[in-house]
Amino acid sequence: MIELFDKKKCCGCGACMQICPKNCITMRADNEGFLYPMVDTSVCVQCGACEKVCPFNSVYEQQKPISTYGVINTNEQIRLTSSSGGAFTALARTILRQNGVVFGACFDKDYQVVIAYAEDEDSLEAFKGSKYVQARVGESFSKCKCFLNQNKIVLFSGTPCQISGLKHFLKRDYDNLYTIDVVCHGAPSPMVWETYLNWCKRQNLGLSSIRNIFFRDKCSGWKGFSFTIKGQNCTLSTPYKYNPYMKAFLWDVILRPSCYECKAKAGASHADLTLGDFWGVDRIMPSVDDNKGVSLVLANSIKGKELLNKTVELNVFDTDYDKAVYYNPAIVNPVKPHPKRNYFFKNFNSTDSFENLVEKCLKPSLNEKCVDALKRIYHKLLKRK
Ligand SMILES: Cc1cc2nc3c(=O)[nH]c(=O)nc-3n(C[C@H](O)[C@H](O)[C@H](O)COP(=O)(O)OP(=O)(O)OC[C@H]3O[C@@H](n4cnc5c(N)ncnc54)[C@H](O)[C@@H]3O)c2cc1C
Ligand code: SF4
Ligand code: SF4
Ligand code: SF4
Repeated sequence: MIELFDKKKCCGCGACMQICPKNCITMRADNEGFLYPMVDTSVCVQCGACEKVCPFNSVYEQQKPISTYGVINTNEQIRLTSSSGGAFTALARTILRQNGVVFGACFDKDYQVVIAYAEDEDSLEAFKGSKYVQARVGESFSKCKCFLNQNKIVLFSGTPCQISGLKHFLKRDYDNLYTIDVVCHGAPSPMVWETYLNWCKRQNLGLSSIRNIFFRDKCSGWKGFSFTIKGQNCTLSTPYKYNPYMKAFLWDVILRPSCYECKAKAGASHADLTLGDFWGVDRIMPSVDDNKGVSLVLANSIKGKELLNKTVELNVFDTDYDKAVYYNPAIVNPVKPHPKRNYFFKNFNSTDSFENLVEKCLKPSLNEKCVDALKRIYHKLLKRK
């Protein structure tokens, strides 16, 4: 039976819950809002299936991609409404054209993020764009297996740990399964996201009825993107570096504990393709960069390469993996927890406003300021010598 002593060793993929023959595992949120398995020991028959399926109980083998590309969707509208170059939508359309099914992350009616599936282009639209919140996997691995056994072509997309969880759940390769993961900075807490949204609604009453949310709005360009919420009567749009939620995400305050020691990166999920932002494209391939977004696509298998080759709506440019990693270290390295991460979660339910709490965490303390000032003086003195 699965027993968790170290939260860093559970990514919340839910494979254990979905494999349990007695349905005695439920995924419950902890005090930070992340889901973990809970076993009803009165029903458990100690079959061990949950332990066996857990990706943390096997070795993660990292691998370098067989090819690395810069990719741009030829449809300007899709490119501008996607996070990077719009590679995902084009690849997913190739699957739908073969009467296939695509799994991806979308908002539910309360703007929480869940993994769902689409069998037509209209439903696919909801998967477009990154949602920087940990998605609830629910029963999607079981559903994916059903489609595979019906000989449907399936594309499953998600974070590397979700793809790794799926592969452990399925236990074998399927010719009709394609998998795509993302270069992953980490997954923020759904509870923090919910609290932030409620805080936004209180601050801006026009947002009480939300129409859409864009984590990567390109109204101010791809590199300096904005976070935008569209309400019935008003729109809140802020460059990411001034938005408290995005700051807490990007400065590593609100990520799941497993993200800080992630083992599923660097090809270890064995997804056929990995998608990310082609940061550094302005240095590596300046002629391609127009600040509208370029996807980085890592082909980790021949199957992934074939799917990319079959996808007609993309302009594809060969590039160099090591250079891409240099400008985008999240491909291989997990981030370190922010020193005030624990402070944030400890004070999360205090009377402080969301913005104040984030500011308190990110503002350097007097000690840190003194150390920085001393360092600056020391370096100046060294230069004079
Ligand atoms: C939590 C998270 C962190 C990321 N961190 C980085 C990073 O540090 N560096 C980097 O280069 N790229 C990162 N990305 C990937 C990047 O944001 C784009 O998703 C990627 O470049 C693909 O963009 P696109 O234009 O091809 O397609 P888009 O349409 O923008 O992306 C859609 C794809 O993202 C998936 N997706 C969206 N939200 C989630 C979610 N919450 N959970 C699981 N899957 C999701 C969808 O299922 C679909 O596969 C991250 C993505 C996520 C979800
Ligand atoms: S040991 Fe078997 S029955 Fe018990 S929780 Fe795990 S999978 Fe379920
Ligand atoms: S990593 Fe996945 S399979 Fe392992 S305990 Fe956590 S939810 Fe269960
Ligand atoms: S950083 Fe690793 S553990 Fe965290 S969501 Fe991404 S893939 Fe999963």
